[in-house]
Amino acid sequence: MQVELLGYPVAHSLSPALHNAAFAAVGLDWRYRAVEVLPQHLAPAVEALRSDDRAGANLTIPHKQAVVPLLDELRPSGVQTSAVNTIVNDRGRLVGHNTDMAGFLQDLRAHWQVPTGGRAVILGAGGAARAVAFGLAQHGLDLWLISRSAGRAAELAQSIHRSLSSKVEALPWTRRSFSQVKRHCDLVVNATPLGMRPQGDLTPWPDEVPLPPSAFVYDLVYAPGETKLVRRARQSGLPAAAGGGMLLEQAALSFELWTGLPAPRTRMQAALDAALERSPDRRAVPRA
Ligand code: NAP
Repeated sequence: MQVELLGYPVAHSLSPALHNAAFAAVGLDWRYRAVEVLPQHLAPAVEALRSDDRAGANLTIPHKQAVVPLLDELRPSGVQTSAVNTIVNDRGRLVGHNTDMAGFLQDLRAHWQVPTGGRAVILGAGGAARAVAFGLAQHGLDLWLISRSAGRAAELAQSIHRSLSSKVEALPWTRRSFSQVKRHCDLVVNATPLGMRPQGDLTPWPDEVPLPPSAFVYDLVYAPGETKLVRRARQSGLPAAAGGGMLLEQAALSFELWTGLPAPRTRMQAALDAALERSPDRRAVPRA
């Protein structure tokens, strides 16, 4: 059986190392491979997943929302977020799930006691931001969404308002917005690719605006291991985590959906650690 990661770019992805180690650990002769798919080629790439030898796929940047109309069925996690990161091929029927939301919350809770009634700022309004926003709103946090595309953030704010009671405000990607939110913010989540290869020297939070004085900083970017944003947070005395833990947890949940077996999390963690250690970015980036 084959499982594919469809995205653009995907060369940075550690998912093949993680999943191939997991398949080997449970004795499955399955293969996971990353496939670079441009947006205009997404539909045929998804159609090909109906074949008997495909168990399904993962979706990554920029396909998580675009894939939704190409599927036969959405499970509740996909319906709520309108974003899919996992497809299961159920005998030719393509079923969409979102394991990012549960994966994010699980890893966030492992690092930080998530308050009910706090305030979070989410940077970006794409597929991953949707999962984060719905997860945090379900937990009772109010949200600011700072996004380059005003329409995407406004649409996300409206979909959360339709089903949950959290206050959600969409703000433009300006220095003024960052200054406004920093005073009352308990959690900062980067859900943009800024800080990810080949933009590893970039950070979404403007250099000239101090980080919020007592926030937890969570960067969904996981390669390189310690992003510029995480390094800056730690240097400012703030607790912070990069997205390796979320990567592991969402992958474990996807593995369980494809195979019906419990994920071998310890083996997956070891494979992730080894892949991060091998990453050229890891060696290039000094650790705080
Ligand atoms: P996506 O759907 O393409 O969304 C990307 C978001 O980032 C969009 O809001 C986009 O704004 C914004 N953005 C991109 N470049 C920007 C820039 N230069 N300045 C400001 N905003 C910018 O991608 P995604 O699937 O949500 O993924 C986002 C990031 O999260 C990726 O780095 C991905 O690897 C990471 N991720 C990690 C995990 C994990 O397990 N750790 C899971 C999921 C995603 P526009 O709408 O204006 O383009």
